[in-house]
Amino acid sequence: MQDLDVLVIGGGIGGLTTAVALLRDGHRVRVLDQARELRPIGAGISLWSNGVKVLDALGLGAGIAAVGGSMERLCYRDLHGTTLCDFSLQPLVDRVGERPYPVRRADLQALLLGNIGDRLTMGQRCTSVEEVDGRVVVHTEAGERHEADLAVVADGTHSKLRSYVVGRTVEREYVGYHNYNGVVPDSAALGDPRSWTVHVGEGKRVSTMPVRDGQYFFFDVPTPDAVPDGTDPQGALRKHFAGWDERVQALIEAIDPPGVATLAIHSHAPIDTYARGNVVLLGDSAHTTAPDLGQGGCLAMEDALVLANYLTTTSVSIADALQRYSAERAPRAARIIERALKRSRLSHAHDPAATEAWYQELAQEDGSSIIGGIAASIETGPCR
Ligand SMILES: Cc1cc2nc3c(=O)[nH]c(=O)nc-3n(C[C@H](O)[C@H](O)[C@H](O)COP(=O)(O)OP(=O)(O)OC[C@H]3O[C@@H](n4cnc5c(N)ncnc54)[C@H](O)[C@@H]3O)c2cc1C
Repeated sequence: MQDLDVLVIGGGIGGLTTAVALLRDGHRVRVLDQARELRPIGAGISLWSNGVKVLDALGLGAGIAAVGGSMERLCYRDLHGTTLCDFSLQPLVDRVGERPYPVRRADLQALLLGNIGDRLTMGQRCTSVEEVDGRVVVHTEAGERHEADLAVVADGTHSKLRSYVVGRTVEREYVGYHNYNGVVPDSAALGDPRSWTVHVGEGKRVSTMPVRDGQYFFFDVPTPDAVPDGTDPQGALRKHFAGWDERVQALIEAIDPPGVATLAIHSHAPIDTYARGNVVLLGDSAHTTAPDLGQGGCLAMEDALVLANYLTTTSVSIADALQRYSAERAPRAARIIERALKRSRLSHAHDPAATEAWYQELAQEDGSSIIGGIAASIETGPCR
């Protein structure tokens, strides 16, 4: 199908990638976002090779390579700083055919925005969607009405419009830990700047990854209470990680507290169908996953490419293309949601004995098993 008139609701990673893909295919695209000013949610993101391959397919490979961090190795340490394993990520690149890039979210957003021209309109909080006489109609809080051939609902994990497609409210579930993340300047005190370094112990994790001019970090802390207290992240981290390795202490002291995001991590049970008529879910509105595999944003990017391809390669109807997209994407995302949840429970000591056994396994790891796990997420995606 050609020259479709498409409304994309939400200008996050999923919505913007969709806009780039549909514009590439010659469709007319408008992106509506509720925010008055588009700011990335969170500081950094690890784009695994499947996400990078989507950008390659959209002609943005050089763009992401220019702003992505050079992540050459993966190193696990225990809480005292003793190395459990430390290996090159080159075998992963050789196996899947593309690098991963940790990146500042602002850089990724700028890259995508730079390729959609003036198609984004801010301050458009969409409140409902309906189909009238073969047209999709989207209503906004301010009373505006937008018509299109189809609507892509990419309004994130708190989606207002998801229930129109799914036919019910989808409840998010607290996964059991809080995440603190941000970016700090590079410093020798943090360890090897070209390594993804993860300290593990007591069911907690501390991670640093190279991004442009700095290190994207996150701390995970298992916590029963789903409501995070972001008032003093540095104080909280000093308490939670007292006695940990000196590199962890250096990281805590390097953070800029106002720049730290503090989140309670959620997931939701897989949704069976992403399409209803000419309306389709994409990204976190369709599949909110715990970030333990670093795949939520990569899945959203894959969604965008697959959706655009079905709209191009089928001619029965828009609804038919959306059903084909849904049939391909829902099982893929369900597997990632389930694997991420399992990984999250293991990392965060839901069963302390299992987590202790995992720490012992890390000490025996030569890289092949971890690389195999990462490759499994990549090789089962649409860009092999
Ligand atoms: C701590 C953490 C770490 C993560 N790390 C990784 C990682 O390393 N790798 C990875 O691939 N993924 C990661 N993810 C997941 C990733 O951030 C998400 O999957 C991704 O941001 C989803 O993109 P999206 O476009 O679907 O939603 P969002 O990025 O949330 O964008 C939704 C957009 O919709 C707009 N919007 C919302 N409601 C409305 C409305 N009613 N009307 C109009 N606009 C609206 C919002 O303003 C926003 O701009 C992580 C997530 C978390 C929480």
